Amino acid sequence: MIYLDHAATTPVDPRVLDAMLPFLSESFGNPSSVHGMGRRARVAVEDARSSIASALGAEPSEIVFTGSGTESDALAVSGLLHTQGTLLTSAAEHEAILKPARHLEASGRAVILEPSPSGSVTADQVSTALRGNPEIRLASFMYANNEVGSVTDLQGIAACCARHGVMLHTDAVQAVGLVDFDLARLPVDLLSFSAHKINGPKGIGVLFIRGGVEIDPLIRGAQERGRRGGTENVAGIVGMARAFEIASQERLDRLQQALALRRRILDGIAPLQDLGGVLVTPEDESQVMPHIVNVAFGPVEGRALDGEMLILNLDMEGVAVSAGSACSSGALEPSHVLLAMGLDRETSSAALRISTGLHNTFDEIDRMLEVATTVVRRMRRLAAA
Ligand code: PLP
Repeated sequence: MIYLDHAATTPVDPRVLDAMLPFLSESFGNPSSVHGMGRRARVAVEDARSSIASALGAEPSEIVFTGSGTESDALAVSGLLHTQGTLLTSAAEHEAILKPARHLEASGRAVILEPSPSGSVTADQVSTALRGNPEIRLASFMYANNEVGSVTDLQGIAACCARHGVMLHTDAVQAVGLVDFDLARLPVDLLSFSAHKINGPKGIGVLFIRGGVEIDPLIRGAQERGRRGGTENVAGIVGMARAFEIASQERLDRLQQALALRRRILDGIAPLQDLGGVLVTPEDESQVMPHIVNVAFGPVEGRALDGEMLILNLDMEGVAVSAGSACSSGALEPSHVLLAMGLDRETSSAALRISTGLHNTFDEIDRMLEVATTVVRRMRRLAAA
């Protein structure tokens, strides 16, 4: 199987698994217990916290462990807007932000901007929105989009937020591992990420909360300084820290490799474009996370391509990619990101999100392109018959 769906999830690095295993077997203590077993678990959790904090240029007290990237996003939004204030965000955010935003919107407490054709919102849009609504308390914009890879101008947006005294959260789930975050310099108040996108385990996330920012917890309890109740997922936390440490050490190599694989995809994409494929990902390398390339297929002579069949056909040929769009109640909905970027429903329903990872090779890219071209050509022929 050629796995090109790393934006969905990544395999656990064996070095991460090695670090986790003791905490799933003999070192099973509860970090809140006073005895030696408990204290050893507590040390592991606090070492993990310190290691992540120091790699981010943050303080350990600014790191909160959660159950996922989704929970980190939810904690940021609900934690600041629990009872009052308005959220400013974009229609191209991940559901983890967009669903809470739509919920707040129903009571007039969210402003949801349409992104530019590149998939991200500009600082000018944010500035206009902030001038028009003094109730906005929190802005949330993803560092990089999970469907098309486009990167947001966070420095520009942060400057607008600072001028208006508005807090800024960023969902960095698709950027961590490839971007060198220095939170002493990146002026965000909150930042979310998740271990399973960086070859760590599923079910563990981080929310960075800048010192002095008060949040209302989603889950009340004694752990995480009262900001997230529940016995800590010790093995997950240890795995997250090890995955983050390895990703930080290998970041430049990973970035070079992702760029090389992206160039290989773009160099070989012409046959798919000849079959009606549109490169949705911005072409400019400086505006994207290089591990995500999105090609969407519009109707040809009035005939749409079935996006779900496309993914399933590729799967049968040994290539795992994603449509980017969500599968709900058994039917593939058009991608809300592509719709927000201005694509029509048919094209937004037939996208290929190719996302590369640590072990992909040029040969795999070439094979994926060959298979995708054969499959799309066959589907177009059948649709026309
Ligand atoms: N935010 C973005 C941009 C993502 O890509 C994802 C996962 O796909 C999430 C949030 C959710 O993270 P998790 O799967 O850890 O809940």
